Amino acid sequence: MLNSKALISLVGAGPGDPDLLTLKAYKLIQQADVVVYDRLVSEEIQQLIPHGVKKIYVGKASGKHHMNQDEINTLLVTLAKKDRKVVRLKGGDPFIFGRGSEEAAYLVKHDIDFEYVPGITAASACSAYAGIPLTHRGVASSVRLITGHCRADKPLDLNWKSLADEDTTLVFYMGLASLPQLRERLIEAGLPASTPAAAVENGTKDVQRRCLSTLDNLPSDVIKMSICSPALIIIGKVVDFAETLDWFSPIQDRDKEELDVKTRQYIADA
Ligand code: SAH
Repeated sequence: MLNSKALISLVGAGPGDPDLLTLKAYKLIQQADVVVYDRLVSEEIQQLIPHGVKKIYVGKASGKHHMNQDEINTLLVTLAKKDRKVVRLKGGDPFIFGRGSEEAAYLVKHDIDFEYVPGITAASACSAYAGIPLTHRGVASSVRLITGHCRADKPLDLNWKSLADEDTTLVFYMGLASLPQLRERLIEAGLPASTPAAAVENGTKDVQRRCLSTLDNLPSDVIKMSICSPALIIIGKVVDFAETLDWFSPIQDRDKEELDVKTRQYIADA
C-alpha cells in the first residue's frame, strides 16, 4: 500500500537492471513530483522517471555537480516542505552501505514524515547474476556484508580473525581499491590463499563482467581484466558454483547476437 501522507519516500533502486525494481518503487517514481537520485541509479532506471518530473542528481561523477551528505540532507528537507511527493532514489538498498539511515534520521529530526522502500542489494543481485549462491548447505552457513572502503591514509580496520572463517561467504562492498589489503590480511588471519574469490563488475547490467579467481590471485586478475567500479568482491567456497550455475552469460551472449543481427541489418538497409 502506498502511504499517501508520506512526504519523502526513501527508495531502493536495486543494482541496475530495471526489472529488479520493486513494484512499489516503480509506482512511487511514476507518482513523484521530484526524484533525487545518485550515481548508482542506472541510466535505464533514470529513463523510467516520467517527463515533467523534476530530477535532481546529487551523486559523484567527474564534471557533474556533487553534493556532500549535509547538503543532500538539507535539500531533502527543503524539497519536502515545497513539493508534495519526493522520491529519494538510491542504488541497491539505501540501508545497506547507502547512508539511507542517516537521511532518515535527519528527516525524523526535522519532523518530516517518510516511508522506506527496500531495494535489492548488490550482494544478493550481483551474486545471483554471477551464478554464485551466497549460502549452500554444507558449504557456507553464513554471509557477511562488509565495507572495504577506507580513508586513503588509513588501513582497513576490520576484525580479520573473525572474518577468516571458511564456512562464511564474505561480500565486500567498495572493496576494489583495498583488494590487495583484503587479500593480505585475510590470508594472514588464516583464510587459505586458495579460497575461491570473485569480482562482479556492473552486476545485473547487460555489460556485467565476472572475474573468477582465488583469494591469492584476485588482485592481479582484477587488474588483468581491468575491472572497474562498481564491483562487488565475493570470497568463499560458494564461488566455485559460478561455472556450473552461470545462467546469465548465455543471456548476455544471446542479446549480443541479437544486437549484431540488428546492426548488420541496419548496415545492409543503409
Ligand atoms: N546501497 C547499495 C550499496 C552502495 S555502496 C546496495 O545496497 O547495493 C557502493 C558499492 O556497492 C559499490 O562500490 C559496489 O561494491 C557495490 N555495488 C552496487 N551496485 C553494484 C553493481 N551493479 N555491480 C557491482 N557492484 C555494485
